[in-house]
Amino acid sequence: MHLAEGLGFDAAVHALPKLHLHCHLEGTLRPGSFLELAERGGVVVPQRERVYGFKDFPEFLLTFIAVCKALGLPQDYARLAREFVADARKQNVVYGELFVSPSVWKHFHPELDIREALTAVSRELNADGEHRFSLILDVTRNLGPESAMRTVELALETRDLGVVGIGLGGDEARFPAEPFAEVFALARAGGLHAVAHAGEAAGAESVRAAVETLGAERIGHGIRALEDPRVVELLARKRVTLEICPTSNFLTGTATREAPHPLFRLDEAGVPVVIDADDPALFETSIEAEYRYVARLGGFKMLQRFVRTAIEASFASMPRKQALKGLLPEE
Ligand SMILES: [Zn+2]
Repeated sequence: MHLAEGLGFDAAVHALPKLHLHCHLEGTLRPGSFLELAERGGVVVPQRERVYGFKDFPEFLLTFIAVCKALGLPQDYARLAREFVADARKQNVVYGELFVSPSVWKHFHPELDIREALTAVSRELNADGEHRFSLILDVTRNLGPESAMRTVELALETRDLGVVGIGLGGDEARFPAEPFAEVFALARAGGLHAVAHAGEAAGAESVRAAVETLGAERIGHGIRALEDPRVVELLARKRVTLEICPTSNFLTGTATREAPHPLFRLDEAGVPVVIDADDPALFETSIEAEYRYVARLGGFKMLQRFVRTAIEASFASMPRKQALKGLLPEE
């Protein structure tokens, strides 16, 4: 009997091993913790009655900024990571590469010792000694290439804390990838992996630039690659994985709940697809809820295939990839 039939659908999704390949640690801050930290730091909470109940993308950005303002001390980052691990364990998350945005931390807290904060995060993520979680330092487009260079230098200096790569986030529509080419080349030459958000607020050319100019191995979202079949073909041919976060896409308007999610067309076209939650607490979702959404529409077997893709697209060592595959139920 197939696992999904034997256990019941939701239970089968719950039991499935899960991987975070596109999750911003700051975006996992529990609402209660946010309120507490905001109160201590005198940070204005944009929506009082329903903490993370924003209705559009600009409101989301305001909330994300408030969250970063509230996280002021190394022990706040330790708490954030500790609570993340507890929440991940409840959902059978077995592995993760988590984004953090130290340039944003520094922007709001110039006095914060970033290495100390990253050390606190790393210690909590690996409190069980299993090294299930590593970090990707996300460069913020809006802060420009110089700030990006500092983030890359930091990433190269903090590999001992589990930093495995750099990402590119921020305002994709106004800040294209090209000025970051040199910074990404330096990161890759230093042995860091490269990923980038693209094809969300800008179109297929932005996805192409992330792949060809930055050497991104995975793309956050990437949905608008569908606007140009040549870019879809590029992703499929080079096996560049798209990290799809359905609830996030609904909020940004990259996809709608009314139509079939574009991830199915991308999958059909041979583009590797994985599922994640982006900023799960802020979006009032969870990786398990995102997996459930995909399994309901595409079937449990498809979801299981995406988990296998996530293992392959991860930056884990070969032995760990083998071990992770061993956790999957038989197909
Ligand atoms: Zn993201």
